[in-house]
Amino acid sequence: MPEKKESKKTKELKEKLLMDKPRVWDRLSSQEKEDVFDYARGYMDFLNKGRTERRAVSGLLDMASQKGFVNITDALGTSNRIYHVSRGKLLILAVPGQKPMTEGIRLVTSHVDSPRLDIKPNPLYEEEGLAMLKTHYYGGVKKYQWVARSLAMIGTMFTRSGKVVDVEIGLNSDDPVLTIPDLLPHLSRKQMEQKASEFIPAENLNVIIGSLPYEDKNASDRVKLAILDLLFSKYGITEEDFIGAEIEMIPAEPARDAGLDRSLVAGYGQDDRVCAYTSATALFQLQKPLHTCVAVFYDKEEIGSEGNTSAKSAALDLFLMELLEKTEIPSSARNLRHVFTAGKALSGDVTAAVDPTYGDAYEKRNNSKIGHGIGITKYTGAGGKYMGSDANAEYASWVRRLFNEKNIMWQVAGLGKVDEGGGGTVAKYMANAGMDIIDCGPPILGMHSPLELCAKDDIWMTQKAFKVFLES
Ligand SMILES: [Zn+2]
Repeated sequence: MPEKKESKKTKELKEKLLMDKPRVWDRLSSQEKEDVFDYARGYMDFLNKGRTERRAVSGLLDMASQKGFVNITDALGTSNRIYHVSRGKLLILAVPGQKPMTEGIRLVTSHVDSPRLDIKPNPLYEEEGLAMLKTHYYGGVKKYQWVARSLAMIGTMFTRSGKVVDVEIGLNSDDPVLTIPDLLPHLSRKQMEQKASEFIPAENLNVIIGSLPYEDKNASDRVKLAILDLLFSKYGITEEDFIGAEIEMIPAEPARDAGLDRSLVAGYGQDDRVCAYTSATALFQLQKPLHTCVAVFYDKEEIGSEGNTSAKSAALDLFLMELLEKTEIPSSARNLRHVFTAGKALSGDVTAAVDPTYGDAYEKRNNSKIGHGIGITKYTGAGGKYMGSDANAEYASWVRRLFNEKNIMWQVAGLGKVDEGGGGTVAKYMANAGMDIIDCGPPILGMHSPLELCAKDDIWMTQKAFKVFLES
């Protein structure tokens, strides 16, 4: 059959009325294509250093210090680029602008915590000649993804005398790794009949950490004792020191290029360290922006933003009040409200990329795709938009026009089919404070899994989008 040909008029009408859905890659110059790959190298380096929220904060802080950022307590007026760290797990960066803050700031938020397995307060035990650690999963994980893989153990502990101990085992290629074995297929008939949410119960997420007994054959729990002896000689810690410690079991392997064309980054914790890195590097490029620009890197997003390092904490309020004082504007509650209500914000968080293998879970007309740029999510929430944040049409229009004007490649984003689930971000807390805010971020495949995928051109475009927003 001969191919049907559209008339010129139809073509023109389509161009005028229909939405264009270009690939980022098709619009890039050859120099920009090189920049995309260069930028991804820096990003992967950051991912590999910032494997936990504490390490992500210290990685960002190192970069900020090199760019001349100073602690807010040492900053003289607003002549400096400023940072504030709260409890090693929440970071705020600011570049003071030309206008008074009460005329509005530009804020980009992201979060640096990621789903993982935390060590329980009393984790260590011995059974069947093995020393084991009990874990407690953190955030939205599919428990079965965490067995039969190499894990690293990273965290912060305190000795009985209060000395801080940084634990890190499993990241270097010659380090031992830790693991949770799965049941062999030969004996899994019952396990295989269970629901996926149940066949690895949380209490089965037990990590094997040793098998050699202590030399005294008459001692009880000899393997546990030998492991404690080893931990004491390496770190000076005892069994009691696990209580209150923050030790995380995370995937041991580093982030790597993915795809034969190396177009993607495969790595743990890209939700949401990709927005942390892209917003920080966008901020670093600013000199004297029109509005004061702020980037916040929150902790505890994955468990509902509770606690004093989360988006629900008073950290940002206090920081902005201190900053007001530096600009000789009284830090009254009223002025702070003006900073928020006159301000504009982007809630930088990843969105779900349509996975062709699981197409049924998505609503393809309203979900973002790999390689089409930063996704804009007008509203989040679950079911009937419950617990979500819904940007005002006026603000959504402003962001869209800005991105179009500055050649930012963006696409519509949402979290799958309405009845399939849903989720939220930190946007609602800033919206509650009075800010105009909308969610946006790059699409991710395998979100919350130990190996997430993000396209390098989307990552690069996200950084560009944050930059033009901060400069607006
Ligand atoms: Zn996230």
